[in-house]
Amino acid sequence: MRVHVAGNVCIDTTFRLDRFPQAGETRNAMSHADGLGGKGANQAVAAARTGAPVTLWAATGRDAEAARIRAGLAGEVDMLRLTNFDLPTDRSTIAVDAGGENLIISGVSCAAAFKPLYHSDIGDEVGRGDIVVMQGNLDEEATADCLREANRKGARTILNASPLPKDTYPDFSSVDFLIVNEGEAQAISSFSNLKDAAAELTHLGAMNVIVTLGARGCLLLRRGSKPVSIPAPPVTAVDTSGAGDVLCGTFAGCLAKGASVASALEIAMRTAAIAVTRNGTLASCPSRQELIDLMKNMETEHA
Ligand code: AMP
Repeated sequence: MRVHVAGNVCIDTTFRLDRFPQAGETRNAMSHADGLGGKGANQAVAAARTGAPVTLWAATGRDAEAARIRAGLAGEVDMLRLTNFDLPTDRSTIAVDAGGENLIISGVSCAAAFKPLYHSDIGDEVGRGDIVVMQGNLDEEATADCLREANRKGARTILNASPLPKDTYPDFSSVDFLIVNEGEAQAISSFSNLKDAAAELTHLGAMNVIVTLGARGCLLLRRGSKPVSIPAPPVTAVDTSGAGDVLCGTFAGCLAKGASVASALEIAMRTAAIAVTRNGTLASCPSRQELIDLMKNMETEHA
């Protein structure tokens, strides 16, 4: 069983400054660095580190950034299917001030144009039992079409509805696992109470809803069952950016490797808990060896 991640990839340039410039002001940063980013790339890498076979379907331009993305991902996911547009490769500029606050500006030309079913062979390559993972960065209709087709082919689908759609998703009937954080669950439902919000999302079609709750872990609601709260392992968090991507990718990878929903989620939460103890987004994701060790330890604990 293969994981297919269809989403966005970009280059993140992070500037660290003492304070943000005001409008019209130029301010020198203390340091700056480029890294690979995009929720599609992050989740594909996390899935691949579980040892599952992963194809990443995404779009770039034909520029030097596209070549850097290709080179950066080549050693991570075993199949890269990058569509090339005559557009600049997507790029985010991230400013982080001395207090850790951030400001982000994202150029999303390629993600906005990319319709996986029309611009790639994903519709032919997804097979029964595969896992298809999407996020909220691509066009809403293209995302819905791709999930519907995956569902028709007998694949299991995961939608991490982040960032939130501009309009509410019409329905989640092609979604097996809808993953949202607390704020997103409240924003796309009519409830602030998370159990009610999750229940409404199952009524909108999702078979299972996972609401991530930061240090408090997550809430899992399987349609027809009672909601279950799963606590996160207690850790000292230093940087929680990308924790949700690590959780989604690891969860998908474990499902593809045949894990039950409960144990895939447990591994994903342990992996995300390690990620928040480290700096960076993709850089904080545990390595393949760390994941192998983590899974072995869990087997021993459960034996
Ligand atoms: P979030 O997007 O902040 O809800 O985080 C996604 C997932 O990462 C959570 O469901 C947790 O499993 C994990 N996580 C985030 N923050 C922490 C934390 N401070 N301690 C342990 N796990 C965390």
